[in-house]
Amino acid sequence: MRFINSYAHLPEPFYQRIDPEPVAAPSLIRLNRPLAERLELDLPEDDADLAALFSGNRLLPGSEPIAQAYAGHQFGQFVPQLGDGRAHLLGETVNKAGERFDIQLKGSGRTKFSRGGDGRSPLGPVLREYVVSEAMHAMGIPSTRALAMTSTGQPVFREAELHGAVLTRVASGFVRVGTFEYFAARRMEDAVRQLADHVIERNHPSASQADNPYLALFEAICSAQAELMARWMCVGFVHGVMNTDNTAVSGETIDFGPCAFLDQYDPEAVFSSIDHFGRYAFNRQPTIMAWNLACLGGCLIPLLDDDESRAHTAGEAVLERFIPAFAAHYTQGLCSKIGLPGDDESFALARGLLDLMRRNGTDFTNAFRALCDAQTDPAPFTALFATNEEIRHWLDDWRARLALTGSVGTARETMRSATPAFIPRNHRIEQAIQAAEVGDFTLVDRLIEVLRRPYEDQPENAEYAAPPRPEERVEQTFCGT
Ligand code: AMP
Ligand code: MG
Repeated sequence: MRFINSYAHLPEPFYQRIDPEPVAAPSLIRLNRPLAERLELDLPEDDADLAALFSGNRLLPGSEPIAQAYAGHQFGQFVPQLGDGRAHLLGETVNKAGERFDIQLKGSGRTKFSRGGDGRSPLGPVLREYVVSEAMHAMGIPSTRALAMTSTGQPVFREAELHGAVLTRVASGFVRVGTFEYFAARRMEDAVRQLADHVIERNHPSASQADNPYLALFEAICSAQAELMARWMCVGFVHGVMNTDNTAVSGETIDFGPCAFLDQYDPEAVFSSIDHFGRYAFNRQPTIMAWNLACLGGCLIPLLDDDESRAHTAGEAVLERFIPAFAAHYTQGLCSKIGLPGDDESFALARGLLDLMRRNGTDFTNAFRALCDAQTDPAPFTALFATNEEIRHWLDDWRARLALTGSVGTARETMRSATPAFIPRNHRIEQAIQAAEVGDFTLVDRLIEVLRRPYEDQPENAEYAAPPRPEERVEQTFCGT
């Protein structure tokens, strides 16, 4: 195993060198073995040894733990100092294929960035992040990964006394928009440049070939985020806290706090208990990302051109392409969900279906999934709508368009790979968390297994595709900070 740490070789203001705080009685809840294999980690066999490693009680050989500095706009307000207040970056591994991964513990104790927090995480949010981040990855959506979770044997105190846990997560990089903001707000131009060079080398190497590498970096980040937003919008993912410190420049989904997937289609859905004004509502996510990227652009201005006004013009031109780029990906993605090519007419048809779904409170995932078989068997699809007349009209238009675009034969497969059969439904996560709180991890394990193959039908797990019954519905999610 090669364990290096390129971030720890950046100068001191980028982080604090600090070891995780040991925990009382670590116990392994789960190790993601396929991921450990991909990372080519040389791990001990014994569960107690694994628990010691993934709780921070013992360090992986060669690791140099650090807490990363970052700032961020939280709900639109700039906070100049956030940083890893409960996370430790252990280091970076490179596998034989040359893939590089950062390994980080979350919930691993206090750092100088803890600001009065306890540095810990309750079990529930650790389980949610494990389940949802792995589900995202299995759906093919860029995301940080979950390598392991351990319970600490120590209580954490929130609104109640809860079990503590540590998540081990893996990313192609943990640099956030807020990391750039940290140095830009302090007018540390050299540090902004060093950070940009690090991110180019690490996440966007092709930018180094461009005439203006920093402009190309900004463009690459915007382009990755445009695609990511389209992917979220096509699976009904609501991130919940799209603060700039929760926006990774790698283009990976990061920080699964009060996130949720839509059950019934509601474009204005908000789940987070702290999002009182719907800033991060489902349908606002692409616009909010544009806002976050504007913050990033502001930090990069000094690097873009010696002439400030030319730098602004260049940065704004990149930013202006973000929404059109998102729209192109979204058009393609949404049209695939109805088995059609990504053209304007097909998109209008798909939008028409979304509108019917909104008015009928239809389950977002199940409607698209039922549509996969609607050419031969439309009944399960139409049964999801109360407005029978309208949905039959829609189906007629859809069939006509399938024929016109020559998509009759390909539509089913297109749709089946554009809409998962299984998403991490909030009520299932909640049930799994509740069982885990009393020491029963079977529901968590089962949920993780089902979600490893989200596009397969798995009739034996059909109940995991069902929307919540009214009494099972979870209206709010909490971040557990
Ligand atoms: P989050 O809401 O998880 O994105 O965290 C926002 C900021 O609060 C980050 O700087 C975290 O490190 C910090 N933070 C969250 N929870 C804790 C905690 N329990 N102890 C210390 N810092 C925390
Ligand atoms: Mg965060």
